[in-house]
Amino acid sequence: MVVPTGNELWTSVQQSLRGNLSKPSYETWISPTTFCSLDKGVLTLLAPNSFSRAWLTNYYARAIEEAAEAVIGEAVKVIVTSQDNLEKTEQAKPSRVSIPAFPSSSEPITSIRSIGNGSKKNQPGLNLRYVFNKFVVGPNSRIAHAAAMSVAEAPAREFNPLFICGGVGLGKTHLMQAIGHYRMDIDPGAKVSYVSTETFTNDLVVAIGQNGMQSFRDKYRAADLILVDDIQFLEGKEYTQEEFFHTFNALHESGTQIVLASDRPPNQITRLQERLISRFSMGLIADVQPPDLETRMAILQKKAEQDKVRLPRELIQFIAGRFTSNIRELEGALTRAVAFASITGLPMTVESIAPMLDPSGQGVEVTPRQVVEKVSEVFEVTSEEMCSSSRRRPVSQARQVGMYLMRHGTDLSLPRIGEVFGGKDHTTVMYAIEQIEKKLSTDPKLATQVQKVKDLLQIDSRKKS
Ligand code: ADP
Ligand code: MG
Repeated sequence: MVVPTGNELWTSVQQSLRGNLSKPSYETWISPTTFCSLDKGVLTLLAPNSFSRAWLTNYYARAIEEAAEAVIGEAVKVIVTSQDNLEKTEQAKPSRVSIPAFPSSSEPITSIRSIGNGSKKNQPGLNLRYVFNKFVVGPNSRIAHAAAMSVAEAPAREFNPLFICGGVGLGKTHLMQAIGHYRMDIDPGAKVSYVSTETFTNDLVVAIGQNGMQSFRDKYRAADLILVDDIQFLEGKEYTQEEFFHTFNALHESGTQIVLASDRPPNQITRLQERLISRFSMGLIADVQPPDLETRMAILQKKAEQDKVRLPRELIQFIAGRFTSNIRELEGALTRAVAFASITGLPMTVESIAPMLDPSGQGVEVTPRQVVEKVSEVFEVTSEEMCSSSRRRPVSQARQVGMYLMRHGTDLSLPRIGEVFGGKDHTTVMYAIEQIEKKLSTDPKLATQVQKVKDLLQIDSRKKS
């Protein structure tokens, strides 16, 4: 076999990926990326910019490695770098280029870089915990994370502003502050400013009262990177909107990277001036969605590691199955579980922790049988079918809903839920729960049906009482 040169290798890999990827994906990510070097099984590629670099690393590293391995018959590790990254590296830092292949690791891609070293100083207003390597990237946050990395590395180049939106407790503030930390790691002299919309408003009110508009403007227009959190609070505040509009323009014109976070996309913030909506939408709007089960488990795992506690996988699964829509609550549950176990001396098991996580302390009184009955009623399939191995669409959908509701409405463990449905494996149950969680946000008909079952079972109201 003739050993291909590095260039030839990359050309073959591109050819093979061209066949496997959609045309837009290929054209956007693979085609503009060029070969850089091949050394001892490490294939280094050069992406046109840092965003592509993050994207390739997140999504395609493994596929590239596999394609390359198929060509040369040996293990290949892919490293993607980008022009701006190389320039920085040449200037000073020798260790900022290596990035692990992403899909094989749940670590965010910044984690092995030499960031967060001793030189770090805390910027007022930034929480030291909110850094990239404490952020678990999942399908729910991949784009927002890649975009955040990108603006931290190359401010005001690609997306200005970067607008991060998503529900409460899903990591918006964490991502924003991570941008600030990372920027200061790269450029310790950078003037990073993190501010909540509330603070902006209060400062403005004070400035007006004391006739201090000039110092207000000086303060807000001096930043190299400004992070404004919870921008939805501009809603209805005409005067603040006015001032923010001018601040925004001044910053944008002077090449300051602006990052905004909101619980909604700009066009859904009511009573927000059109011209602000259009400014906010002119960069990139990246959303964070609720994490799927696997990501929630990874978040708990990571937090447990940080807190140096060992948790059985069953318990991680249990907590992750219970707290589905808010990462703050998910973390809170873990903290309570750990505190509870240490105070009572009880072991960290599902049996001892479960009652503590149920606020009523009495357990939720829905029985598995009720769940099956009500689901069968609403989805119009029989209970027998649901517990059979039939793979007919309506039946398997109803079964998945049953598993999902049992997870949320009863104290049953995953294996026990599997048993209820005719001896299914716990991984099947996990998969089902995940599927339903995903579909609930995209399939309104299903969401309505599930709500109907919940109403019949009074799941939510029981939980609250
Ligand atoms: P938001 O601003 O969207 O309401 P936060 O950024 O305050 O949410 O996140 C809430 C909590 O959840 C924080 O403690 C944060 O560290 C944690 N968190 C959120 N997303 C992640 C993630 N992807 N990985 C690890 N921790 C996360
Ligand atoms: Mg927040």
